Amino acid sequence: MLTIKNLHANIDGKEILKGIDLQVNAGEVHAIMGPNGSGKSSLASVLAGRENYEVTEGEVWLDGKNVLDMKPEERAREGIFLAFQYPVEIPGVSNINFLKTALSEIREYHNLPPLTAKEFLKLTKEKQQLVEFDAKLANRSLNEGFSGGEKKRNEIFQLAMLEPKLNILDETDSGLDIDALRIVSNGVNKLRAANNAFVLITHYQRLLEYIVPDVVHVLYDGKIVKSGTKELALELEERGYDWLKEETPVHA
Ligand code: ADP
Ligand code: MG
Ligand code: MG
Repeated sequence: MLTIKNLHANIDGKEILKGIDLQVNAGEVHAIMGPNGSGKSSLASVLAGRENYEVTEGEVWLDGKNVLDMKPEERAREGIFLAFQYPVEIPGVSNINFLKTALSEIREYHNLPPLTAKEFLKLTKEKQQLVEFDAKLANRSLNEGFSGGEKKRNEIFQLAMLEPKLNILDETDSGLDIDALRIVSNGVNKLRAANNAFVLITHYQRLLEYIVPDVVHVLYDGKIVKSGTKELALELEERGYDWLKEETPVHA
């Protein structure tokens, strides 16, 4: 599904990503771990096409399509969804209206007819049940005055509604209390399917007690220095990241 080859990217002329190679297949969950400042959020931003990053080298493919040639909104419509570390608040736009617009744009892009009001309502109800999302939150302004847990619930609800191919979740460590951990992990576990993939960014091993990843990667100083199974996450929890400085980069 996703193929990244030798990806290099700068911000303000400073190289942040220094040659990333990554292959994510449909049906897989990959965890990207690594110390603060190693470039995890930058990788997510570059995949989503945020403008402050300049790609200087490398390739990114999504099901055979060249992602680096696409504008951010095109990437979203092709199915790359990035749940941000700090979800933005959009006063005055209700959640449900945001989703209605996003969904009709996606459907139009894929030459699908728009959903009728009745179909949209039915879908909303189904997905609310699936991810145990409180209907009251759906009608509130997007993220306005949401608690941390409510924002997480909302992110998962957005994923459930929009059904992206590639779900990228960038989880800050501080923001994840035990409730938020459960919300995110229950949601991901319900939504993971043979036709989608998840990239979970965290430097927090605890999330991976609830979501069992197929592959764990360590990002260190802008490069993936090690890839392994879920046991690697446990090893990192015990040993930290410093020992990896000495390792030869291993490309997945
Ligand atoms: P992580 O998510 O792994 O903590 P980031 O991707 O946020 O890492 O940051 C990687 C590096 O890029 C850090 O050295 C950080 O200081 C730098 N960086 C991030 N955003 C900016 C920015 N807007 N301007 C300059 N440097 C930045
Ligand atoms: Mg950080
Ligand atoms: Mg980060």
